[in-house]
Parts: sequence; C-alpha cells; structure tokens
Amino acid sequence: MTLTGKRALVTGASRGIGASIAKALAAEGADVAITYEKSAELAAEVKRAIEAHGRRGVTTQADSADVAAVEAAVEKAVAQLGGLDILVNNAGILRIAELKNMSLEDIDAILHVNVRSPIVASKAAIPHLKPGGRIINIGSFFADRVPSPVLGVYAGSKSALVGFTRGLARELGPQEVTVNLIQPGSIDTDMNPANSPFSDTLKMITAFGRYGRADDIAHAVTFLANPKSQYITGAALTVDGGAVA
Ligand code: NDP
Repeated sequence: MTLTGKRALVTGASRGIGASIAKALAAEGADVAITYEKSAELAAEVKRAIEAHGRRGVTTQADSADVAAVEAAVEKAVAQLGGLDILVNNAGILRIAELKNMSLEDIDAILHVNVRSPIVASKAAIPHLKPGGRIINIGSFFADRVPSPVLGVYAGSKSALVGFTRGLARELGPQEVTVNLIQPGSIDTDMNPANSPFSDTLKMITAFGRYGRADDIAHAVTFLANPKSQYITGAALTVDGGAVA
C-alpha cells in the first residue's frame, strides 16, 4: 500500500483504462473520485470496486468537453474527499478521418476533450495540490509515430499533451508537485478493441505481437503516483509493448 491517505481524481473512469486506473489507485490505498460522460451504471460499479478496497469512492457525471462541468468535478472531489493529491487526466476520445473529411464538430470535440479538459482540470486542481502532489496525463503513442492518414487530429491532440506536461512540470516543480505523461500503445478497450479491423496491424508493430491490457497503464500510473517517484517530472513514459521502439 503506497498511497494510503492520498485522494485522487480520475477523469473518464467508468470503463477501459480509466476504470483500471481508479481501481489500482484504490488497491494502493487511495480514496478515488471518478468522472464519466454517459455510463452511470458502469461508474457505480467502479465506485463499488473502490469501496471494496475499503476506500471512499465518488462518481460525477461530467462531460470533459464542458469547462464548467470539469471545474465542478474537481471541486466536488476536493469537497467529498477532503482534498486532492493526485489528478489523472485520462478521459479521451478518438475520431478517425482524414482532415478533408472531418467535421469542425469532430475537430472541436477532440480538442476540447483531449486537450482543453486536461488543462482546465489541472488549473482547477493546482490550488489544492500540496507538496507530493501528482498530475498524470494520459496521452498516446500516436504522439510519437502516426502510422495512418486518418489519425492526424487525434495525434495532434495527444502531442499537445507532451508540451503541456513539460511546461506544467516546470511551473509546479517549485511546489514539489510532479507532472508526467503516460503514452499508451494499443490497449484492449472499447476505444481500440483487440479484434477490430486494424488490430492485426497494431499487434504486428509491437515487440510482443499483442495488445496490452488496461492494467498495464494502471501500473504505470501507480508507479508515477508513488511518493518514491518524487524526482520524475516532465517525463513521457511510453507503454506500448515496443510499438514505437
Ligand atoms: P474508452 O473509450 O474505452 O473509455 C473512455 C472513458 O472515458 C469512458 O469512461 C468514458 O465515459 C470516458 N469519456 C469519454 N468521453 C468523455 C467525455 N466527453 N467526458 C467525460 N468522460 C468521457 O477509452 P480508453 O480507456 O481506451 O482510453 C482512455 C485514454 O487512453 C484516452 O485518453 C485515450 O485517448 C488513451 N489511449 C487509449 C489507447 C487504447 O489503445 N485504448 C491508446 C492510446 C491512448 P462513458 O463510459 O461515460 O462514455
């Protein structure tokens, strides 16, 4: 138990990688608040899993595209957990199209959820983070390599998190708060199922010839959240089974 007494907020944690992160943080002793957009029942299941570890769980419906909802979710986590030590900006969306075929609506959705929301949530969290605090952003290995013509806007949104993470790490270093980025590779979730039309190619480019599991990313989060990771900041940790190696 490395995170006993810590209080965490994980965005987009009703399913997939976020749900795994929330449960892993609770297993390490943290109280965990989560947000979701639509899946109230799945979010309630994650809350029950958090509570099964003897920790407090909080669920909040908050569309990450909605600035006021994101800010309110941070304030609710602080109020109900009695403070905030760890923010995991996980919520993200994937829309696949070449730019010439992508609507402005889809471009805005990607930028609002994948880029503006982590920035807004971090800004709301900063006043509450004490020395030892953690901000962990979830990017993508597509920030490093873009192996398809239909990924430009998504890849651009995840590349934005690289610069944001580095800059915020500089800003919060003096108060002993670390800011890091995890860049998952192909992880078997609803967003990127291991049996999709693209999955054979995505498996082939890894060193293992297979997808990763959401728990592989959750493990990286608990590693960065661990108090012993105090000298790691501004880093991008790619967890992709060697896909961009
Ligand atoms: P999923 O689509 O499987 O799950 C997405 C989660 O985010 C759900 O809990 C969903 O809530 C929530 N969410 C989606 N949109 C919003 C929104 N507008 N507001 C609030 N919550 C929202 O995604 P993954 O678990 O696969 O991805 C998690 C993160 O990892 C994302 O940032 C993604 O870009 C990144 N990533 C994933 C990879 C993969 O291969 N899976 C690879 C690289 C990066 P609800 O259930 O309510 O819809």
